[in-house]
Amino acid sequence: KPILFSGAQPSGELTIGNYIGAIRQWVKMQQDYQCIYCIVDLHAIANQNNLHRLYETSLDTLALYLACGIDPNNSTIFIQSHVPEHSQLNWLLNCYTYFGELNRMTQFKEKLIQQKENVNIGLFNYPVLMASDILLYQTNLVPVGSDQKQHLELTRNIAERFNHTYGTIFVVPEVFIPTCGSRIMSLLEPNKKMSKSDRRSGNMITLLDDINMVSKKIKRAVTDTDQPPRIKYDPINKPGISNLLEILSGISDQPITYLEEIFKEKTYFQLKNEIIKSISSVLIKFQNRYYTERSNEDKLRYILCVGAKKAQKKANVTLKKVHKAMGLSN
Ligand code: ATP
Ligand code: MG
Repeated sequence: KPILFSGAQPSGELTIGNYIGAIRQWVKMQQDYQCIYCIVDLHAIANQNNLHRLYETSLDTLALYLACGIDPNNSTIFIQSHVPEHSQLNWLLNCYTYFGELNRMTQFKEKLIQQKENVNIGLFNYPVLMASDILLYQTNLVPVGSDQKQHLELTRNIAERFNHTYGTIFVVPEVFIPTCGSRIMSLLEPNKKMSKSDRRSGNMITLLDDINMVSKKIKRAVTDTDQPPRIKYDPINKPGISNLLEILSGISDQPITYLEEIFKEKTYFQLKNEIIKSISSVLIKFQNRYYTERSNEDKLRYILCVGAKKAQKKANVTLKKVHKAMGLSN
């Protein structure tokens, strides 16, 4: 089976954006791929969130993966920092990545503008660590949301550059971005990506939000002011409603064109009620499983221990190959 790699940062509770854009695909792809799902704590520290309880947040993230349907008997699940090869390859790849390339990364440029404090080198270096995460496992496919597209292109460029110099060392990975729901927007600011590290909690729905909260947040979600109010998918002119349609489509697995048809004559109020119903039924299922999994820390630690061992074995093969190619060992 081809190899698939992806991950999420333990930077807060996973959102419905993370679920629709990434994790929903991860679950489905377990059948056809050899899947490796990482909890990327080294990426999270670049943002310095929850630093005092990072390990706990990593366990929360793991329990959420399980609750969503990632099966540890099928997929390798581990914490990034437990496999030091990620940091080791990172340094080597730094020397094959140009300053100008990283300087063009839009995610970093946005951080540079918005975030006045703590623009650390880790944030700048993030895409190279991400390339290391992926290339270490000879990954064929990386399913991500569209915000990661540019980082995946960089990963491919680094791999090709390295291969061009040293022969075929890395598999050049393909990216998988879902056609619908690859960029769920913020509920109160539909021109901004929904992000779990957002300080404004009204912007996101997390997988652990209670049902009353879901209802409140959806009711407050920004709709569009054009008259007469019509439900149709038009991200440019109707960002609010289009985002709500994408959320409903992603959560309920119904195509947007079908939803447009059903809601053609209906009100925003009716659309929102349907979304609340749909999200609630999915979240209740996840949350029941989550609290069971999260209470069994021994099991979680065991999964991580087995996962890290399996991952390290593969990572080490690649790193040795790289060392040899570069003349660091013989
Ligand atoms: P942070 O704010 O800490 O960066 P995040 O919500 O962006 O958190 P990540 O851990 O960075 O989450 O990303 C995990 C995965 O979820 C990635 O594949 C990313 O592309 C995807 N993703 C993140 N946000 C969204 C979104 N709003 N819509 C669809 N996919 C998303
Ligand atoms: Mg992110």
